[in-house]
Amino acid sequence: MAAIVLDGKRIADQIHEKTRADIEVFRTDFGVTPGLAVVIVGENPASRVYVTRKHKACKSAGILSKVVELPETVTEDDLLRQVDQLNDDRHIHGILVQLPLPKHINSNLILERICPVKDVDGFHPTNMGNLVLGKEILVPCTPYGIIQMLEMSGIGTDGKRAVIIGRSNIVGKPMALLLLARNATVTICHSRTRNLPEVTREADILIAAIGQPKFVRRDMIRPGAVVIDVGINRVGTELVGDVDFDEAMAIAGYISPVPGGVGPLTIAMLLHNTLRAARLQKAGS
Ligand code: NAD
Repeated sequence: MAAIVLDGKRIADQIHEKTRADIEVFRTDFGVTPGLAVVIVGENPASRVYVTRKHKACKSAGILSKVVELPETVTEDDLLRQVDQLNDDRHIHGILVQLPLPKHINSNLILERICPVKDVDGFHPTNMGNLVLGKEILVPCTPYGIIQMLEMSGIGTDGKRAVIIGRSNIVGKPMALLLLARNATVTICHSRTRNLPEVTREADILIAAIGQPKFVRRDMIRPGAVVIDVGINRVGTELVGDVDFDEAMAIAGYISPVPGGVGPLTIAMLLHNTLRAARLQKAGS
């Protein structure tokens, strides 16, 4: 039987609607419109597409959106100064610095400069540390979106065997922590993992965040497994995931497509986090 396709767009639309309604209530209660600043450095075409999408989504949710564009040649000091200004701006509740940054800039230094309560990407050591301790304050958007996708599709995690391929700070590691907090037994695989297919075949829930087109083949999937494809790879004019979709369809129980799977959820959770950040700042003011 063919796998059920997890419609990320539909789920993201539901989250978006709820956030929009909650923002309306927040604005009525406090007289404040949540604001998000997205900082983009240079001309990376993929980054530009993502920033435009985020800007449009903010507007439709009722979030004030500011895009700060800086040239590829911006110095680290100037970028830090820009972050400081946004940290001090009371109309801005969320700050996101679009990655990747040019090579001459230390990304960690920049991300660590963002005030933790404005860190809507959830990458600051304080927010990451909270996640390790089981406190979900501002959670990285992509793994957080995957949790919503599972929950809203009625897919339980309790006692399940979850395998994540990829150990990045933005997807793999926080994904593991979120699943662990929801009682899954979690394994993280990476480029040095031995006998990878043997490990992935044990997964009830398999999450691929690798960045290699169609890497996950049929022989890596347990029959009936839930397969979540995080990858976004451009092959010619086409966008493909890290999972071979056709092969996964034939063996998995559920599969998230690319595009239209995890991507829309990442943006939905960014808006959710911006409202959350605004609430945190209101509570602390
Ligand atoms: P990354 O490059 O930081 O990490 C890739 C990970 O894959 C590494 O931990 C590495 O060890 C592992 N890996 C690489 N080759 C492997 C192999 N042969 N076998 C096993 N593991 C291997 O990537 P990232 O930032 O986590 O992103 C991963 C993918 O997800 C990319 O395609 C990226 O574009 C995509 N992404 C999508 C969204 C979204 O919203 N849908 C968000 C973030 C990232």
